[in-house]
Amino acid sequence: MKLDVVTIFPEYLQPLRAALLGRAIERGLIEIGVHDLRDWTYDVHRAVDDAPYGGGPGMVMKPQVWGEALDTVCTERSRLVVPTPAGTPFTQTMARAYAEEEHLVFACGRYEGIDQRVFDDAARRMPVDEVSIGDYVLVGGEAAVLVMVEAVVRLLPGVLGNPVSAEQDSFSDGLLEGPSYTRPEVWRDLPVPDVLRSGNHAHIDRWRRDQALERTYHRRPDLLERLGEADLDARDRAV
Ligand code: SAM
Repeated sequence: MKLDVVTIFPEYLQPLRAALLGRAIERGLIEIGVHDLRDWTYDVHRAVDDAPYGGGPGMVMKPQVWGEALDTVCTERSRLVVPTPAGTPFTQTMARAYAEEEHLVFACGRYEGIDQRVFDDAARRMPVDEVSIGDYVLVGGEAAVLVMVEAVVRLLPGVLGNPVSAEQDSFSDGLLEGPSYTRPEVWRDLPVPDVLRSGNHAHIDRWRRDQALERTYHRRPDLLERLGEADLDARDRAV
């Protein structure tokens, strides 16, 4: 998979080369390009923004600069992902779909965002998704790209040491994952639940499922509402 990020702060994307993502690059599982948007400016100030039409506070990123940048970076096989608080919420389902893509291009906005015509124009040639990572407003799209890339890349075959962990994570079965424990058996008077030390795997599976249901009920009841009848068994309904 190839990932390209266009930004006015290339240094902000350094973490893409660290830890799990860095190892995925070293092993040839992903290729990452980070591009400075100002490389497509021609004026002495290397300006990327201008005042908004219609007035109002802040500045808007210029279409000419973004248009040329995307013309260079995108191909006919790219999907353009635009982080914006006004976008569709990013979910694990989207991360799974993105993990199937050949080429993702991320356009990091700053200020009040990017001139809308950049995306309207790009959409004539490629799929374009305007995506939000949550109901809050960041200063720029770079942190959102780090979040999305990490969520996508860990799903690629060969990236995680144990692929089963991704299958059992929160959201994989529509629920939040329950609590986890490791040694020692008792820590600061707090014991590990007996069932996890029982060796009875049927009981452990049931306990984990119940914990996941309870946690989801308390923290994310909206997820439970989205589960279909077929996703729940009789024991689930009793929890
Ligand atoms: N005026 C925009 C609005 O109200 O929708 C907010 C612009 S924000 C200050 C600047 C940039 O940060 C956006 O263009 C986007 O790239 C990024 N950003 C901010 N919040 C985000 C979020 N929740 N999800 C994804 N990107 C976000």
